[in-house]
Amino acid sequence: MSEPLPGAERPADAICDHCGRCLSVCPVYRQSLVETDSPRGRVELTTAVAAGELIPGPRFAEIVDRCLLCRACTLACPKGVDTPSRVIRARADLLRSRGLTARLGGAVMDALIAHRDLMAAAVRLGGMIFKGLPADDTGRRHFPEYLPRMLAGRGVPPVSARPLRKILPVRVPRAAGSKNRGTAVFFSGCYYGLVDPGPAEAAVRLLSLNGFDVIIPPDQQCCGAPALFSGRLEGFRAAMRRNLRVLAALDGPVISACPTCASALRIDYPAEADRLGGPEADLARGLAGRVREAVTFLADLDHPVLPGREPAVNRVAIHQPCHFVHAGGDSQAPADLLKRRGVDVVLNGTGLCCGGGGVSSLNNPDLAAPLGRAVAKTMAASGAEAALAACPGCVLQIGSHLGRLGHAMPALHPLELLDGKESK
Ligand code: SF4
Ligand code: SF4
Repeated sequence: MSEPLPGAERPADAICDHCGRCLSVCPVYRQSLVETDSPRGRVELTTAVAAGELIPGPRFAEIVDRCLLCRACTLACPKGVDTPSRVIRARADLLRSRGLTARLGGAVMDALIAHRDLMAAAVRLGGMIFKGLPADDTGRRHFPEYLPRMLAGRGVPPVSARPLRKILPVRVPRAAGSKNRGTAVFFSGCYYGLVDPGPAEAAVRLLSLNGFDVIIPPDQQCCGAPALFSGRLEGFRAAMRRNLRVLAALDGPVISACPTCASALRIDYPAEADRLGGPEADLARGLAGRVREAVTFLADLDHPVLPGREPAVNRVAIHQPCHFVHAGGDSQAPADLLKRRGVDVVLNGTGLCCGGGGVSSLNNPDLAAPLGRAVAKTMAASGAEAALAACPGCVLQIGSHLGRLGHAMPALHPLELLDGKESK
């Protein structure tokens, strides 16, 4: 059902020949123009540290931490060098030298990833606290500037009163009168499962409308990407093993509206399981072939069916999230489906990373903020009525910067507009 992913089959020992092709696509290097801040620089430094030729100090940690793990360099590299994977290994090696706050934060993250009920409770608590924060003129909330740099001024996610599992049943039948296309498994991830279920609801409704019986496994867990990106490999492996067991027991394509979850399931699970060897390797490879990003999956259907409701907005700008583009999403898919809905796409791709790269952006606010501002400005200047991005991190980052720039323009996942629940 799914094609092998570009970047999925990177040899672990590919050697950089310093051609420099990766430099122009790296959002971090494009901002700093410092060689050590480039993919090539990170490859050289991590290789030297791994070989014992360089003692890792604070500057090395900073360079490793500044990588947004966007995967743009892996696609650009003719030699198949997998820089993000080397960065993650370096972060794992650096864990013991981190300060107490970072180590405590990591331990809390591991606990939240391992216990979905605990994460749900933390999200609920966060939602209650966030409601007390003042909204800006566009109705958006931001963390106060007096907080540590990691959070100061960042956009606050809109936390739903109910998680996805309280909104939709475990099994959603195909819509009455639809052509039977079998069963699809929906992997919600944490953000769309617990924080903002709107895009997940939209995805499931669209799958049902297109003839799928949709199963939302209640025992699925966080995909583990936050742990992986932090170098917390044990936390990631635990999440991977749990999800492999859950998803391997079900038939049908595995659909995710979050491209980071999709890329974890499609690329990181088989890569890590192969590294470990053992029974998970076959399971992970089998799962990887079934995982699809939701918008691309719908666009690839033979005669996809879309609701007849008039969409809430008629002119949109689309941002192409890094993980969407570099981990199997078709950059034309959102625009193609939106055009079928009668929506005018005035901008399809900003050509920039928005800087909303999960833990990397939390650790590097000075890097992430200018990137977010630039993307928000580009989208606001396009004349669109809404800014779309098929990634929760991008929607939050772009929405936050639109608010800070004074633009009321909403930031949405394309699925919300395709589904049309929020129609005129
Ligand atoms: S993953 Fe992205 S941010 Fe990191 S080195 Fe590659 S292009 Fe740069
Ligand atoms: S594109 Fe690949 S081979 Fe060329 S400099 Fe970058 S990492 Fe090295």
